[in-house]
Amino acid sequence: MTPTLPSPQTSAGASRDAPPGPQTHYRICPLCEACCGLEIRTQGQRVTRIQGWQTDVLSAGYLCPKAVALKDLHEDPDRLRTPLMRRNGRNSPLEPASWDEALALIAQRLPAITAAHGRDALALVAGNPSAHKMGLLLYFARLARAAGSKNLFSASTLDQMPKQLQSGLMFGHWLSIGLPDISRTDFMLVIGANPVASNGSMWTVPDFRGKARALRARGGRLVVIDPRRSETAEIADAHHAIRPGADVYLLAAMVHTLFAEGLVRLGPAAPWVNGVAELQAAVAGFAPERVAARCGIGADTIRQFTRDLAAAPRACVYGRIGTCTQVYGKLACWLIDLLNTLTGNLDQPGGVMFSKAPAFAANTAGKPGSGRGVATGRHVGRASGAPEVFGELPIVQLPDEIETPGPGQVRALIVVAGNPVLSVPNGARLAAALDTLDFMVSLDIYCNETARHADVILPGLSPLEEGHYDVPFPQFSHHNQARYSPPVFAAPPGQPPEWQILMRLAGILSGQSDTALQADGALALDNEWLMDDLRRANPSRMDETLAALADWQGPERLVDLALRSGPYGDGFGLRPDGLTLAKVAARPGGIDLGPLQPRLPEMLRTPSGRVELAPPLLLADLPRALADLATPAPDMVIIGRRDVRSNNSWMHNLPTLAKGPVRCTLLLHPTDAQRLGLADGALARIRRGSASVTAPVQISTALMPGVASLPHGWGHDLPGVQLRLAAERPGANLNALLDDRLIDPLSGNAVLSGLAVEVAPAL
Ligand code: SF4
Repeated sequence: MTPTLPSPQTSAGASRDAPPGPQTHYRICPLCEACCGLEIRTQGQRVTRIQGWQTDVLSAGYLCPKAVALKDLHEDPDRLRTPLMRRNGRNSPLEPASWDEALALIAQRLPAITAAHGRDALALVAGNPSAHKMGLLLYFARLARAAGSKNLFSASTLDQMPKQLQSGLMFGHWLSIGLPDISRTDFMLVIGANPVASNGSMWTVPDFRGKARALRARGGRLVVIDPRRSETAEIADAHHAIRPGADVYLLAAMVHTLFAEGLVRLGPAAPWVNGVAELQAAVAGFAPERVAARCGIGADTIRQFTRDLAAAPRACVYGRIGTCTQVYGKLACWLIDLLNTLTGNLDQPGGVMFSKAPAFAANTAGKPGSGRGVATGRHVGRASGAPEVFGELPIVQLPDEIETPGPGQVRALIVVAGNPVLSVPNGARLAAALDTLDFMVSLDIYCNETARHADVILPGLSPLEEGHYDVPFPQFSHHNQARYSPPVFAAPPGQPPEWQILMRLAGILSGQSDTALQADGALALDNEWLMDDLRRANPSRMDETLAALADWQGPERLVDLALRSGPYGDGFGLRPDGLTLAKVAARPGGIDLGPLQPRLPEMLRTPSGRVELAPPLLLADLPRALADLATPAPDMVIIGRRDVRSNNSWMHNLPTLAKGPVRCTLLLHPTDAQRLGLADGALARIRRGSASVTAPVQISTALMPGVASLPHGWGHDLPGVQLRLAAERPGANLNALLDDRLIDPLSGNAVLSGLAVEVAPAL
């Protein structure tokens, strides 16, 4: 029986004819993983003020300087408001086009390429901002399904795949991430992360600074290990500088010390843990004395860290970008969770815990306590041979897939809210490869360094023109909650929401161009695809489910479906007090679902139903690190850094964030600056192999000697880019120096940190 379709409904939104008087709106900040709740005041079509939403259940009024720049982003004259396309082939200029023209060209070109060369001839790339727009994230999945290509890439293999792989192998799902319970801990060790600047990453924790202060005020300790005395180190009880890339050795030596000194205690997790004996044997070669010189930290200090961690009643270790983006990224991530587990702090208040997200979390679905676990290498990169991980291939190897001739060669590309030309190592090679494609589409708010290569650029909306539910971040949140914010402004007439753009592209790729090219094609396709999903999930309840979802469409409808089916949901009437999107939307500031609670063993999705402390894939990589201990450390290595006023490459065109001192500087320790003949403010040339960039020097004792630091995401001086303010102070592209052949095996993550460079005065 074919069920009756609901008529397309209008999702909650703002009117284009907004009243001229002042209005106050609740909006979840889309700019970083902290996901703060904002109060946005408007007058007509203009933003008049942005401040923290005082009663937000997650952020309680906190906001950082980036949030205010949402007004700049919304009003940015460089933000694209109409499609651009090349009317006469790849060498013709990008010109404004109508939506009909742009989509018609895509429908003419893409299916022909995949018909002639196979589905893998089309690659897809999802950029970081996709995670912060529910329409992009939920409908990129639809697009990928329609494309049917193995060539899927995302920013995850630039910064976080080691953490996802390690978590998947230990706990059974890629997104089951152990989260520091900072509000209840007594001792927190932060390594390779700067949460004062980031407010957490793979850990949603607005106002980290305030929470760190509270930790210290109640007698707890915060210790930071980082090559730089970062903003987080500045507020810590202790900071220890470590040689970049040596985290794996320090962490392995700490695990070694726990065993050697009889400090292992598993606590309440003990019945659910596998692999302790294998682990003890595996770290036997990492005695503190053996690794101390490589780390730049004495053996006695390493032992003392370990004893402090073990002695604290409640403790947690947190590592992030610095630990992921190095040669042994997945091992460093793994060792961090081993320390948490072996000190009895896994799944305990004050230790590391697992959120219980109200929607979209695999660790709340299916049979509790066990599952299929994770697998990699279900296919490999045709040219690179790299194994797939979480359905993706390493993004640094996208040029290989474009350049290497033969069956399956990538000839077409869709980039969604991404700028890999700036964000991947050796972006110049990728840029050259993009120019050889037969066809390329970008969905973006800017004509950026990557989109300039496209045949068609489809403009996204301002974040203030779309409703929002955080799809991934409640899985990383330090507190359980559900929040939704409706659009602040209506979209301009004729501008489709991003989910509809992706749905129409999906229609084109799935042989439904006739429908996709109609103005309401996205609605029809979305209904059809939703019905397919429901038919597969539970055909007997399909009619009632569709009827229950009738108030929403597009991403809101998928969120309502996920919330109602989730662990706090109303089960479509089975639990009348449970959550629906309507209930969440009725509470600006969100619904508080309580602090994190112990979830072992119910959250596990490993085949054994245990926490796997010694996954063979990770054990097998330890000897590589041990052997590498004999390799002499370079004289000078480079690392990145995070600035509170920037996030990746796409906020440098916003006046509020661009003003003030130049931020793309090369930090050097005074002894290095003197040795190299570089004064503060002088222009330095940073060279690695044949690649080089120049940047002004900033001399700072915050950095350890032998290390240079340059932030990433800069380099806005390429031709064809339409980012006028960013071009005034383009900065140097750190990634231009980095090696696109270097990855952490299995996770496929790019190595962005700890590579040897030469620094000299720029002549
Ligand atoms: S910390 Fe992140 S989420 Fe919070 S206001 Fe700043 S940019 Fe927005």
